[in-house]
Amino acid sequence: MSCLTVIVPCYNEEENVPLFYRELMENQDFFAERGVELELLYVDDGSGDGTVAAVRRLREEDGRVHLLSLSRNFGKEAAMYAGLEHAGGDYVVVMDVDLQDPPSLLPEMFSWLEEGYDSVATRRVSRKGEPPVRSLFARMFYRLMKKISRTEIMDGARDYRLMTRQMVDAILSMPEYNRFSKGIFGWVGFRTKWLEFENVERAKGESKWSFWKLFLYSLDGIAAFSTVPLMLASVMGVFFCVVAFLMIVFIIVRKLLFGDPVSGWPSLVCIILMTSGVQFFCTGILGQYLAKTYMEVKRRPIYLVREKF
Ligand code: UDP
Ligand code: MG
Repeated sequence: MSCLTVIVPCYNEEENVPLFYRELMENQDFFAERGVELELLYVDDGSGDGTVAAVRRLREEDGRVHLLSLSRNFGKEAAMYAGLEHAGGDYVVVMDVDLQDPPSLLPEMFSWLEEGYDSVATRRVSRKGEPPVRSLFARMFYRLMKKISRTEIMDGARDYRLMTRQMVDAILSMPEYNRFSKGIFGWVGFRTKWLEFENVERAKGESKWSFWKLFLYSLDGIAAFSTVPLMLASVMGVFFCVVAFLMIVFIIVRKLLFGDPVSGWPSLVCIILMTSGVQFFCTGILGQYLAKTYMEVKRRPIYLVREKF
């Protein structure tokens, strides 16, 4: 008998916990027929509402329900990592509790594993019900990532992914502090089947991601999976040197022909402002990478456990 662990990160989701349980268990016959046991691991990411109590109620009815409660809110990335470290199954799937990752897709995903894939990933092909500005920025992010990172990061990819034990172990071998799962999944490789589905709106409650939080998260992603921004300073430096050289030649020639070496300090001010702006910008990029390196070398734990059953 093999086992499938379903990892569900939850942050203030008391209403969704039982809803998710019910929808997931609608698929249990499919897995029972194949001799696969289901195991449900809710990872409470420091919720301040009744999430833990809701999981405890489920546990009283069903021994297959487990809880891993973190000592505070560490963020979804940390919660997923915590779940992966504690999952005992031969297969593991990560899903959102708000039913935006439809559990009805699980049987199809599992069938692809049986076909010999190591991992079945999902992406949503529409962004229906999402603010247009957010969709626009998301598209821009994925287009940029394609250009500046060698790791494949799919547009619209969800963290909803079914994996074999081998792939889970590969992911756990990357204990980096700045986690960007979409990149990590791509980086470890393995044979991955992509399934597509239409966007589903969240069951209860509100998204935990504000536009600003998502924007910062995308910068994390860039810093974690590309070093191209670090080259920007060199590229700009060469560009400005070339421009400066051409201008020097222009001024010398003009002086020789017309005898007017200096005129126009406004243009000078503009040039100084622009080049110093570029320099600050590049120093800022350096600072970003330095900050990430700083957090990484401290080797702090990614999460801390408060309670588990
Ligand atoms: N989540 C979490 N910790 C956080 C924020 C979110 O574990 O700090 C969980 C949340 O409970 C949900 C999943 O991550 O199961 C996705 O969150 P959300 O639905 O808010 O994001 P969206 O679907 O809008 O991207
Ligand atoms: Mg959601």
